[in-house]
Amino acid sequence: MTILAVTMNPSIDVQYPLDHLKLDDVNRVTTVRKTAGGKGLNVARVLHCLDHPLIATGVLGGFFGQYLSSQLEQDGIRGDFAQIDGETRSCIAILHDDGDQTEVLEKGPTLSADDAANFLQHYEALLKQVDLVTISGSLPGGLPVDFYAQMVALGHKAGVKVFLDASGAALEAALKADEKPDLIKPNDSELGALIGEEVDRKNLPQLAKQLAHPIFDGVSWVVVSLGAAGAFAKHNADYYQAAIPKINVVNPVGSGDSTLAGLAYATDKGESVEDTLRSAMTTGMLNTMEAKTGFVDKSKFDEYFTKVTVTKQ
Ligand code: ADP
Repeated sequence: MTILAVTMNPSIDVQYPLDHLKLDDVNRVTTVRKTAGGKGLNVARVLHCLDHPLIATGVLGGFFGQYLSSQLEQDGIRGDFAQIDGETRSCIAILHDDGDQTEVLEKGPTLSADDAANFLQHYEALLKQVDLVTISGSLPGGLPVDFYAQMVALGHKAGVKVFLDASGAALEAALKADEKPDLIKPNDSELGALIGEEVDRKNLPQLAKQLAHPIFDGVSWVVVSLGAAGAFAKHNADYYQAAIPKINVVNPVGSGDSTLAGLAYATDKGESVEDTLRSAMTTGMLNTMEAKTGFVDKSKFDEYFTKVTVTKQ
């Protein structure tokens, strides 16, 4: 059982910790952290922490692409990326002034039609080796808006489930296509944007009505993650609330990616609907308890799993 974790716009994530950020001046940094970043790589890292077989894929280019590849290798994560002509991007997070974070995010390379075709060929070959695909994050420039929809259709042609964690036009195109993603995981604000309505985390009957929106017809799983409030989910015609205990949050960045990893992990292991939601909440929580993004401590999994309450509505 192997999961393919896709990141189409990966980055080298650079962290610059500073006591104080001085604008229009020189800021000297002594400790720099550089990691392989991108939402799908967080999914891959969490699956790796859970000792679940995975392949990380997407596109890489230039020296930064090589660097990202070597970082994954160092972490013991199996990567199998398609090469592009452009250069993989860097994203800089300046951590300063007691908890403030200022980010400088490169848009990333623009892919050519050849890059896109090469990747899809590479992806089709990988589909033969896996049982489930997760696709996370934004589409890089140059790819058509229905690129993820195409990837879902290719997955289904190969008999592989495809979980999609995207937003905006790429997600809408995938929901409008004939072959629907098997799971989507919007958070509350992404759900609001999709259906054009306000989403109230506490109003469960209203959430159920909102998930009954025809835009979700044919999608087996719609899991709406609600931060500290857990999640609300639709599985076929059934609705579930997942409630989680109060925990000590260290770093919530990447929690949604960890939730997707938990959903894929449990689905790949053939777990029940309830236990799939429990696993997803557990990986989400465990990620918030660590300083490192996309990292979970497997030894705590069972303890937190039992603390999640899933109620059919
Ligand atoms: P996203 O990162 O996509 O916005 P959420 O913030 O909804 O996703 O978080 C995903 C999951 O991570 C939640 O469903 C929950 O399990 C866990 N989580 C996130 N924030 C917290 C928090 N403050 N306390 C407890 N669990 C959290």
